[in-house]
Amino acid sequence: MTVKRALITGITGQDGSYLAEFLLGQGYEVIGMVRRSSTINFERIEHIQDQLTLVSGDLMDQISLIDILEKHRPNEIYNLAAQSFVQTSWSQPVFTGEVTGLGVTRVLDAMRIVDPDIRFYQASSSEMFGKVREVPQTELTPFYPRSPYGVAKVYGHWITVNYRESYNLFACSGICFNHESPRRGHEFVTRKVARAAARIKRGLEKELRLGNIDSQRDWGYAPDYVRGMWMMLQQDQPDDYVLATGRTHTVRRFVELAFDCVGLDYQQYVKLDPAFMRPADVDILVGDPSKARQKMGWEASTSFETLVELMVRAELEMIGAED
Ligand code: NAP
Repeated sequence: MTVKRALITGITGQDGSYLAEFLLGQGYEVIGMVRRSSTINFERIEHIQDQLTLVSGDLMDQISLIDILEKHRPNEIYNLAAQSFVQTSWSQPVFTGEVTGLGVTRVLDAMRIVDPDIRFYQASSSEMFGKVREVPQTELTPFYPRSPYGVAKVYGHWITVNYRESYNLFACSGICFNHESPRRGHEFVTRKVARAAARIKRGLEKELRLGNIDSQRDWGYAPDYVRGMWMMLQQDQPDDYVLATGRTHTVRRFVELAFDCVGLDYQQYVKLDPAFMRPADVDILVGDPSKARQKMGWEASTSFETLVELMVRAELEMIGAED
């Protein structure tokens, strides 16, 4: 049997690292695209680095993408790379558009030129729904993005659909609702809260500053979601799918549970800070994953409570290891 080869852009990120682990477990040869930086940032893939082929490239640079495809000839591409932080997209809107939006076209063009038979996954986002038009959101819910990041993702989604229809490519868009883990970037609210709860418990910090704690999100566990990404590329026909838990919780509830895990009352430590408010926030994000369940048999199997607990436990262990 021939070994399948997958290219992951964004392999140094949260999802990239879990997807790489998952694909290695499926017997894939995994090529990871990394961008040049003055310091190495391979923490999330250190433990599997010797099983990966890492290649240098950037979503801003078309030639690097064509070269990688010509040299490594993957069967599947998972385009996870992006400027992925919503808040940063207001301070760097053009850069976000270049990477998160136009970057998708660059990968699709490279694929069209080098090998149109490659299967392609685009990491789309629930942030495309923004000022939601209906609750819960499905693959057919109209988009109303509320940040430059969301706008760029809408472009990435539609260019994926458009190239599928224009060039008959096997290109799928996974509309993922928030998914977290101990490998989530420190700036994201779940990681920030889990880390603060653990550090306050250990006496390393005194308070936690947050923006809108009443905003509601549909939070799942990242390893469940990367399995869904892979499943999309194993179907007979390319299509778009919502990946979500179908349940929503406030940031406040996440905070409460995280502080419960360490036996503290969050109200004594949380301070509301306008600096963390978004200029335009999204309302109640909750996805309807029925299509993914019915067509692919995919389900988010980790509960919200388990997710919060495993994130806080991981932070406590990390502090322990630093002691
Ligand atoms: P992440 O941890 O922020 O990782 C982003 C990755 O993109 C990093 O590997 C980063 O590399 C890479 N990257 C950034 N700019 C690049 C460029 N110009 N060229 C090449 N690589 C570049 O994001 P994540 O949470 O894993 O999310 C993966 C994808 O899913 C992203 O597209 C995100 O927008 C999308 N998404 C995520 C969620 C979620 O809840 N996690 C939900 C919906 C959609 P460096 O390490 O060098 O910075």
